[in-house]
Amino acid sequence: MRDAILAHLAYSFGKSPEAAQIEDWRMALSYAVRDRMVESWFSATRRCYEQKAKRVYYLSMEFLIGRLLEDGIVNLRLQDQAHAALAELGLDYHAVLADEPDAALGNGGLGRLAACFLESLSTLACPAIGYGIRYEHGLFRQSFRDGRQVESPETWLLQRHAWEFQRPEARYRIGFGGEVKTAGGNTTWTPSEHIDAEAFDTPIAGWKGRWTNTLRLWSAKAPDPFDLESFNRGDFARAAAPEALARTISRVLYPDDTTEQGKELRLKQEFFFTAAALRDILRRFDSEYDDLSLLPAKVAIQLNDTHPAVAGPELVRILHDERGLPFEEAMTIARGCLNYTNHTLLPEALETWHEGVFGKLLPRHLQIVDRIDDAHGRANPSRTLSMRANHQVRMGELSFVMANRVNGVSALHTGLMKDTVFAELHRLHPERIVNQTNGVTPRRWLLSCNPRLSRLVTDTIGDGWVGDLEKLRELEPHVDDAGWRERYAEAKRANKAALARWMADTQGLKVDPQAMFDVQIKRMHEYKRQHLNILEAIALWQEISETPDAGWTPRVKIFAGKAAPGYFFAKDIIRLINDVAKVLNADARTRDLLQVVFLPNYNVTLAERLIPAADLSEQISTAGKEASGTGNMKFALNGAPTIGTLDGANVEIREQVGAENFFLFGMDAPGVMARREVPDHARKAIDADPRLSRALAAVADGTFSPDEPGRYANVVANLSDHDYFLVASDFTDYWRAQREVDTAFADRDRWTRMAALNTARSGWFSSDRTIRGYMADIWGAESLQLD
Ligand SMILES: *Cc1c(COP(=O)(O)O)cnc(C)c1O
Repeated sequence: MRDAILAHLAYSFGKSPEAAQIEDWRMALSYAVRDRMVESWFSATRRCYEQKAKRVYYLSMEFLIGRLLEDGIVNLRLQDQAHAALAELGLDYHAVLADEPDAALGNGGLGRLAACFLESLSTLACPAIGYGIRYEHGLFRQSFRDGRQVESPETWLLQRHAWEFQRPEARYRIGFGGEVKTAGGNTTWTPSEHIDAEAFDTPIAGWKGRWTNTLRLWSAKAPDPFDLESFNRGDFARAAAPEALARTISRVLYPDDTTEQGKELRLKQEFFFTAAALRDILRRFDSEYDDLSLLPAKVAIQLNDTHPAVAGPELVRILHDERGLPFEEAMTIARGCLNYTNHTLLPEALETWHEGVFGKLLPRHLQIVDRIDDAHGRANPSRTLSMRANHQVRMGELSFVMANRVNGVSALHTGLMKDTVFAELHRLHPERIVNQTNGVTPRRWLLSCNPRLSRLVTDTIGDGWVGDLEKLRELEPHVDDAGWRERYAEAKRANKAALARWMADTQGLKVDPQAMFDVQIKRMHEYKRQHLNILEAIALWQEISETPDAGWTPRVKIFAGKAAPGYFFAKDIIRLINDVAKVLNADARTRDLLQVVFLPNYNVTLAERLIPAADLSEQISTAGKEASGTGNMKFALNGAPTIGTLDGANVEIREQVGAENFFLFGMDAPGVMARREVPDHARKAIDADPRLSRALAAVADGTFSPDEPGRYANVVANLSDHDYFLVASDFTDYWRAQREVDTAFADRDRWTRMAALNTARSGWFSSDRTIRGYMADIWGAESLQLD
């Protein structure tokens, strides 16, 4: 390993050890690790062709992959070698790994799920390719100024990126706009604008490095990059314009996962990567088969949410217009390949496009959507809803109608899909909706991020759990052993001490590692209810101030999360949390018992740092709103019991870990719907709870914003008058559950038992289990592992 690093340093980067900077060492190590993936990458491809296997294509607008070096080292089990080699070279292993930029090509849960799925697909030796966009700028960087969120561009590609292979030969010309002509029964689309999609491949190695799949990201390039005529005339800006214009398509990730800006550029991005993926898929298929009716047997395409929904009409267009299949047959074949995962029931997050924009960019596709819709209507005369309404194209309906299988991401969410958004389509196609509860990869979310706990688990039950997480159940008998519990508690203590040191060194924050670390980290959104959490903190602070000696359990409330730049209410909540933190942390009477911390720039790396050190997991969304959640699973696996509502996968977590190891509160989904119908429900809830009234009054009177007392008038008005997410109505029960948490935590041994049982019973939440479900129920794909 040391020789490999030195060789790459010299021959790949032209540096001597004396001249090398940390980035050079990181790159050299990355290349040395990457080299060891290439063999299994080639053999996986070879085996797939030999066996004429069905391939899975995962189309996702986002892949929140984070850092990749440790992933590679861990999955190839090179940790000891890499440690030793770097030590011999006088380098610190952790410092070298920390030099890698965090590839934030996603907003949150949806993109992180795609990343976990890629890793599990490789671990299970399922032949698969992930397709997405190679954004030059991933999710924005977040900092705070006077407590307010400030966004700056993310620049992961300014540092050298070790993992991708540019594929200039895999390049497709993608068209937009133009006109459609029909002559002699043939329809042809002649686009007016073209952009090239060029592939960049990243190998994704599975556990033990036995199988390696590909993440193929598309970068936008101008077909004619340079206008020499303008240049020669001295018009340099115009000369470079074509390239600049084309590149905008893969320039930035839209910083919003729940509302659509209705931007033309967004639709262009969606069509760009979807069309490039389909061309690539068909090129590969054509190289192996010459009968298009075999497509559904050989190709399974998964649409991660509706962002790639144009895959339906585009595949029909290719099969019908370009390959000459009859329309009905083209539709049947396309539908046989496509599947759709729904991720949200929030009405504002269900994609629709105005037919003006859609028809301008994709005129032929608009015609095909209408034809699909007509065909579906004729086949189902009792239907009342179409995918075309109010001059909009409805991508959810389109995805559903064009899918062989449609899935939700937790049992609760799948049930709600059947009863609400897709009730009619479910009645017409009762076999189509299936559930696949999300999962997370145990390699990243336990083995790598929590070495102390991993070591204890492996010492106790061997290392079989890494590839078969259900084996964690074998820990259960040990939970009754006081000595073992002490070792479990020691791992958590050490993780908390490490986090406290990091917060002191990098953030200048002093926290007591003995206190309970109560953690809520996720995108900022009203439905996730960070405001419920901070209101509870305010009420608690007020009560502690009155009775400081009442035996309170010391807590540090830790927040992290980004708000979409245009989501002003969520940004107000960030500022409120920061303002509250300032006042509480300065209060000498209470700060040993309660502190509030908001860490900036939440990303995968920060999650990996915080989750192993968490005592309590906050999963407090309004019931019926969080489709699944995956953060909730990471916390449970790492031994942080949940305080949560019956929402998303919380329901299944509670079933798995046991109701006695989960702090349940709040209304369930039917309760939420009923409560919304009660007139003045928010004011009634506030009037009924003096703690809540007092906390809100402090927000309203400027206790936390003395220089601007009216700063949060809007927040207070929203919570008192409207309160769509029922913060007020759930507050009282949340407070009750939090005091139960206090009591449970004060009994350290009882708490350790609960935490350890959360770990032992979270095996079901492995993304390996999820992917096995997709392979069996949705894709009909098989593992090609020999042993
Ligand atoms: C897991 C994860 C998420 C998803 O968290 P939820 O609590 O399920 O919303 C978002 N962002 C990052 C960086 C993650 O690691």
